[in-house]
Amino acid sequence: MKKSLQVIISALTFSGLALLTLSQASAQPGRFDTMTMEQKVAAGESYHGRQAVPVEPFRVVGNIYFVGTTNIGIYLIATPEGHILVDSGVNEMSATIRDSVEKLGFRMSDIKIMLSSHAHFDHVQAHAVLQRMTGAQVMALEADADALEAGRDLSPLGFEGWEPVKVDRRLQDGESISLGGTTMTPTWVPGHTPGCTTWSTDTQDDPQNPGETVNVVIFGCNGPNDGVQIVNNPRFPTLAEDSLFGFDNLDKLNPDIYLTGHPEAPFEGIMEQLRVQVRPHPLLQQQPWHELVAERRASIEERIAAERGH
Ligand SMILES: [Zn+2]
Repeated sequence: MKKSLQVIISALTFSGLALLTLSQASAQPGRFDTMTMEQKVAAGESYHGRQAVPVEPFRVVGNIYFVGTTNIGIYLIATPEGHILVDSGVNEMSATIRDSVEKLGFRMSDIKIMLSSHAHFDHVQAHAVLQRMTGAQVMALEADADALEAGRDLSPLGFEGWEPVKVDRRLQDGESISLGGTTMTPTWVPGHTPGCTTWSTDTQDDPQNPGETVNVVIFGCNGPNDGVQIVNNPRFPTLAEDSLFGFDNLDKLNPDIYLTGHPEAPFEGIMEQLRVQVRPHPLLQQQPWHELVAERRASIEERIAAERGH
């Protein structure tokens, strides 16, 4: 238990670690939001290679499949009427994702809806390419839709961009979408990006037990990245309040299992068990959700207090 706690915690601090590495890779280490765009792109390219190593796809739980890479979580939710893809990763990953979807026996052309956890390059950069491959409708929370369409990171991070992609449907907080008997509900968690989204769904994990549902969330919204000024942020004057509102919203959820956008640490040591479908499900041993949300909230509150000088 202790070990799995540590593993989850390190997963959640990953975005901070990644940034540390990114700023080390730049010519001007230190505050992230003072890097030039050239420095950000150079740092981003070194990041792609490390995160985007292909892994064998597998069924995670119920109708949710992992089609991502070593440390970028891309999830396929399969239904009898077509599939939903959550996130697309960096540009280099589009062929990997296609291969993974096909290895699992699904067709790219059956992906009908593309969703995103948040408009940062490592989660949505390949959206435009995958949209062309699939013909899917792109749907996103209103507050991240502008960034997707602009092809620019409009979050406090302001990092590397992507090919603009048209958003076919802009959703509001809590506005569910359904396909083939699966319902996905977006919870708005501003802070990390303006429209950072935690997706929830109920899935049947055990075909012998069709009445038994498992609530699963996919999330990557841990508040503003390390290195981002939270209090009186010049571009986002209400970033502190928005971030705390996001944690309040997260705390309303009650998942049995949560999946993250950077899965390397949470899957470490249980990858084989996941692949061979060990039950009870190995991810039921994760740190309890509300404890996790409280911990993440506390770390942002500490940063806010430190910036306010008390
Ligand atoms: Zn991010």
